[in-house]
Amino acid sequence: MKLMEFQGKDLFRRVGIPTPRGAFVRTADEAERFVAANPGSWVLKSQVLMGGRGKAGGIKFADSPAEARALATELIGEILKGVQNPEGERVESLLIEEKVAIASEAYVSITIDRATKKPAIMVTAQGGMDVEEVNERDPDAISKYWVDPAIGYSPFIGRRLAFAAKLPAGFHKAFPSILTGLYKLFMEYGANLVEINPLVLTKDGAVIASDAKVELDDNGLYKHPDLKEWNAQSTSDPDQMAAVAIGLGMSNYAKLDGDIGVIANGAGLGMGTMDAIRNAGGSAANFLDIGGGAQAKLVKDSYKLVTDDPKVKALFINIFGGITRGDQVARGIVEALSGNDLRKVPLVIRLTGTNEKEGRAILAEAGMNPVETMDEGAKMAVEMART
Ligand code: GDP
Ligand code: MN
Repeated sequence: MKLMEFQGKDLFRRVGIPTPRGAFVRTADEAERFVAANPGSWVLKSQVLMGGRGKAGGIKFADSPAEARALATELIGEILKGVQNPEGERVESLLIEEKVAIASEAYVSITIDRATKKPAIMVTAQGGMDVEEVNERDPDAISKYWVDPAIGYSPFIGRRLAFAAKLPAGFHKAFPSILTGLYKLFMEYGANLVEINPLVLTKDGAVIASDAKVELDDNGLYKHPDLKEWNAQSTSDPDQMAAVAIGLGMSNYAKLDGDIGVIANGAGLGMGTMDAIRNAGGSAANFLDIGGGAQAKLVKDSYKLVTDDPKVKALFINIFGGITRGDQVARGIVEALSGNDLRKVPLVIRLTGTNEKEGRAILAEAGMNPVETMDEGAKMAVEMART
């Protein structure tokens, strides 16, 4: 999950990284009112997921309420296009922040380095521009440190990097503790990427995060239920939002062109299920990964979501129980699907794992067509969709 700047900065504040004061607004009215109540110079920043907003015209400066109104009117609803994003992204909201007088801009980020399997910190004094560009033009200007995750981050790393990257002296005192916060955020929130570009040294000598780019690993989101709402805000894909709405990750639901709905636990099993359907001469209408659990509520919500798609003529639920008890899973499914508020779709369920026989007996009793193998289930689903 990619976060918008205002969301990233919310996390920054939680870990003690200084950010400019400001406000999040959705309308030109709000923008005008905010600047009227807080006279001064402000930056209006388009909240979109794409980078390079400055170059794309998504960042404006306003010194008066009238100017804030005019610029917000211009920005909100605009489609911003960037180099990496030719189709563009619509601006729905703005972050209004105090305009700071910049003395110097630096860059700092943490990512996972797959080769060494360690968090990699990158720092350069050439902030405010694309780090890829810096890397091409002047790779030596980027200083790197690979953190041993068993030992973790210590402030000496920050001090060393500040020197190695030749950050202007004004950065040095604050830098190690900013990096402490950034590393904490990276680990505690399960990030794939945290980036401050630019990290600004102001003319008053303060060091603050002027921008925020944060990408979280969806698999770690369950640890931070409050962020799931952000998930919905930061995607505009209705299918992804639907998955988020029932408590799953954004990528747990995919729509396809066929006529068989697929619910499976695990993405790999889902892929296998779709292959089996194809082998049996049919094709999947969608695929929902319900993850590890098969609790009644989630099964019901998943059933609703998948059968909500009018293309779905039959449904194949493929649950690999493993050590989860099959009888429990079966009871959950029966309970979930017993309500008469659900669209009735021909259904086949493949259930394996501990107590699988007991599980299938329960399903059979409820008239739910249990099968033992994936191929059997696929064949049956294809036949059901044909009739
Ligand atoms: P990005 O283009 O999407 O990365 O957005 P940024 O938040 O990084 O802003 C782009 C550029 O706008 C920065 O590199 C700065 O040059 C400029 N900028 C943003 N905020 C301020 C500010 O408070 N004061 C000044 N002087 N410039 C700013
Ligand atoms: Mn930036």
